Amino acid sequence: MTINTLQQSILVATPTPYSDESTMGFLLRTAETNGYNGISKLLSLAGLKEKERRSSRPPLHKLHHLFGEDAGSSRLTSLDARISESGRFIAISTHHLPALYFRSKYAGLCPICVKENGYIRNYFELRYAQVCSKHSIRVISKCNACNRLLDWNRRGLTTCKCGADLSTQEHEAITDPAVAVLADIIESKLYDTPINMAQALGEGFPIDFLQSLSLETLLGLILRFGSAAADAQHILPDPFGEIDLLALKVSAGIFKNWPHGFHDFLLVVVGPQANLMKKGLRGQFNSLYESLFKNSLPVEEVAFIKTEFVSFGQQTWQKARIDKRFAPSATNIVGLTGLSEQLGLHPTTTRKLYREGYFSECVTGDSQTPLFIITSDLHDRISGKTINNRESAFRLGIPVSVLSQYRLLGYYQPTRLAIPTDGFNEYDIEDLATLMSHGAPMKNEFDEERHILLNQIMRFKIPTNCKADLLQLIISGNLKPIGRCESAPKNLIFDRIEAETATSNVSVDGDRFISSAAANRQYYLNPPTAKLLCKLGKVEYYRCRNNHWILKESIDAFMKGIVSCAWIAQTCKIKYSALGNMCEEMGIPLLKLSPELPIEQSFIRTSFLAALGIAHSFQTLQDDD
Ligand SMILES: [Zn+2]
Ligand SMILES: [Zn+2]
Repeated sequence: MTINTLQQSILVATPTPYSDESTMGFLLRTAETNGYNGISKLLSLAGLKEKERRSSRPPLHKLHHLFGEDAGSSRLTSLDARISESGRFIAISTHHLPALYFRSKYAGLCPICVKENGYIRNYFELRYAQVCSKHSIRVISKCNACNRLLDWNRRGLTTCKCGADLSTQEHEAITDPAVAVLADIIESKLYDTPINMAQALGEGFPIDFLQSLSLETLLGLILRFGSAAADAQHILPDPFGEIDLLALKVSAGIFKNWPHGFHDFLLVVVGPQANLMKKGLRGQFNSLYESLFKNSLPVEEVAFIKTEFVSFGQQTWQKARIDKRFAPSATNIVGLTGLSEQLGLHPTTTRKLYREGYFSECVTGDSQTPLFIITSDLHDRISGKTINNRESAFRLGIPVSVLSQYRLLGYYQPTRLAIPTDGFNEYDIEDLATLMSHGAPMKNEFDEERHILLNQIMRFKIPTNCKADLLQLIISGNLKPIGRCESAPKNLIFDRIEAETATSNVSVDGDRFISSAAANRQYYLNPPTAKLLCKLGKVEYYRCRNNHWILKESIDAFMKGIVSCAWIAQTCKIKYSALGNMCEEMGIPLLKLSPELPIEQSFIRTSFLAALGIAHSFQTLQDDD
């Protein structure tokens, strides 16, 4: 207490404001110390008019005489005064902030802080001061006894108008430490004190960026993040500051584990509202984009958020085209036109390929206006020239017919783009050649007795599809070359006996599944019959490129004790009609998968073969297996 020599103070007690004390808090403290039931009484004493008394920030210059001081030396000059004429900006510590970042005429407080300090800091005047970082509790904004918002014009710092003791009001704990960290950062900025780095880094905050933000920009970001979250969740503003707490929590979540928190926020909170009718990232997230980057926040300060917004589009969202202006060097999401440019194709061709299912693994967005993610893998897939069958077969050192059959049997799985699609990508052929050679070493010696060349194998008098099977044996590593003469695959050297054994085994190769074509050769199951067997579940199979691959054991099981009429007709060189008549005459039943099937797709029990005089031939068939 100081007694002014020039003028007698009106008040008995004339406290001195703390540097970080809230103006209204100081007036309330002064009123309380002097035994007044609120600020209003104090202001009347100073002779303020009704309107001035009700103001959210009374004219301090009219209060000097309460303290027995003149304006020049008044202790009140250290307090924040409203500075702008329009009232749009309010002074707080060293900052001038837009009024919208303040709690208007209501007040918040941390009762523990008040107990410790004996006064209310101006931090609590801020709208987003919803949390006391020091005590990790929710700032009190209302009295639980009377359920009213806390008015500055109350009985005391921790005494409500209704008389309730606010210091005994139950605390609401803040469990997410990131929220307290963000509150602490706001406070540090307000008082120009260093940010607690350990805490902020512990939560994974982008500390370098946050350090360079002004208090106003930080509050601006919290406001915008909060609005986006409230819009998305249809939460309306409320007088109790719930929406401001939400904004604080959402923002803490965004800064936490940067940038993952931000990506999650965009994906989970804003993403569901994204306008997918727009192709561009900015268009899809228009309202957030506008509010963050088009609406008065300093461009340089929020640049780190914009950069991350683009990264989000590229890495997490992947449903939008990204404007070249955003990411000039790294645009990886394009439309059909962009993809065509990348592929060097006419857009019509690209569209056709897209419809045929090419690029399916890199398509994002909706199917009408597809977007494509250009990955290094896609670049690899679309690289390389398309070469025709003849050239491809030449490079592999095999006959064209064998390569065609190889593809027809479903062995060939293109990994790169070929246009037209019945050609081969040169790199795929290169890969096939590599697969065929299995790293076989160069050999100088070639022994006709013991060795055989690939092109000699390919001239064996066996059906083309058997040669295709052989080729698959080679590619799959079941028949490996022992060396090569030159680098060309056709000069692969094989062990003669191994190659000949494999050749005689190709129709019954080591693989457990055979193609329907092979089933036709081996079991005389014509393709429609083979398909029907699959369809009826009589055999185990899988489909690949429209080819049925049937488990051999299951055909064997089905064919046990029966033989196909097709085999009889071809082996005995008799017409189906004649076979049918013979069976009918001798009372031999034709077994059918379904009654309407022709004799070509029927079977006969092997026990009847002797009656038909062809048991010997059947023995041969069995021996072949
Ligand atoms: Zn506190
Ligand atoms: Zn109350």
